[in-house]
Amino acid sequence: MKPANSILSGYGTTVFEVMSSLANEHGSVNLGQGFPDGNGPDDVRAVAHAALDDSPNQYPPMFGVPELRQAVAQHNKRFHGLDIEWQRETLVTSGATEALAAAHFGLIEPGDEVILIEPLYDCYLPIIRRAGAVPKLVRIEPPDWSLPGAALKTAFSDKTKMILINTPMNPASKVFTRDELQAIADLCLEHDAYCVSDEVYEHLVFDGRKHVSMMNLPGMRERTVRIGSSGKTFSLTGWKVGYITAAPNLLTPIAKTHQYLTFTTPPNLQRATAYGLGKDDRYFRGLADDMQRSRDRMQRGLKEIGFDVIDCHGTYFITVDIRSIGFNGDDVDFCRTLTIDAGVTAVPVSAFYQDNPPRHFVRFSFCKEDATLDEAIRRMKAWVHPS
Ligand code: PMP
Ligand code: GLN
Repeated sequence: MKPANSILSGYGTTVFEVMSSLANEHGSVNLGQGFPDGNGPDDVRAVAHAALDDSPNQYPPMFGVPELRQAVAQHNKRFHGLDIEWQRETLVTSGATEALAAAHFGLIEPGDEVILIEPLYDCYLPIIRRAGAVPKLVRIEPPDWSLPGAALKTAFSDKTKMILINTPMNPASKVFTRDELQAIADLCLEHDAYCVSDEVYEHLVFDGRKHVSMMNLPGMRERTVRIGSSGKTFSLTGWKVGYITAAPNLLTPIAKTHQYLTFTTPPNLQRATAYGLGKDDRYFRGLADDMQRSRDRMQRGLKEIGFDVIDCHGTYFITVDIRSIGFNGDDVDFCRTLTIDAGVTAVPVSAFYQDNPPRHFVRFSFCKEDATLDEAIRRMKAWVHPS
């Protein structure tokens, strides 16, 4: 038999699926794969329910239902002061994942270079490699996750087509500062490169920090593909409603890809997402405040156990150094052992690096009810400090 595509068949099953299966097998508290406890906001779900009966369920327009595209444009104005023409500069996708695929398949020519910052969300490299690009990796590492200016500069060349950034960043929980974004923007402008900006955690920023969109940096409005997701903004990860904001010269080739990848996204979920994006500021503040409280609870518990906890500035992930509790194996051993022996699941941070990863950090998701977090902490305490 002739072989399947070698790039994608070379990858194993994603770390999230592997760890969730192990968690299910052992009945552990699953703080591995990032998905919130609960079922998302009642009113947003109610709009989705009603739209099933009140609105058409046939193919919606390829670019998305107008009310969601208008809501995306208004959301950009409200939170970033951006003036967006909804008819020419917004596109609805089936999740941020499809947005990322459409952006790269639509913009990359084989041989183009794409700069990525490790640790990487899992679909980035497979998509970019399948699009025919040559990935150029710049690495940041715990505990400070600082951006190495010199390495970044070296990564850019005349062949650079784009840089893919993720802020707030999974799994680093780093929120890029305006200065860091400016350094990236300067290089994009110098090398005539685009920026694909994965901002799915844009509303999950803590301690008074502010999420800055790359689209707001001088000269980047026309060069940035900004991506959001209902999965994170409304804690509805199964919905897979994503949205892209980009200037027409970038959006047009991306939409050409989208029309052949998925063409559309379920219309009732689009309508409910439109409603959600129009919710008042209290909702968005509440989302961040609640998540910050969960971060504090988890951080406190992890510290009580004796873990060195890396600062978490955004997202719903927190990273610890497993050496601090005297664990001698690597992060993969740790996550397996923790699931089986302690009944708690995390994910190994090494899974987010391509080569020579750091091997003593693991990531916990804290987008959970207090009782879930407390039970996880209780189990880990009993495992680390048996009486
Ligand atoms: N980017 C990042 C950084 C993520 O963490 C996720 C979450 N799964 C996604 C993209 C994918 O989002 P979606 O579920 O909307 O496809
Ligand atoms: N984004 C989620 C995480 O980082 C998982 C998404 C998935 O399972 N594909 O945990």
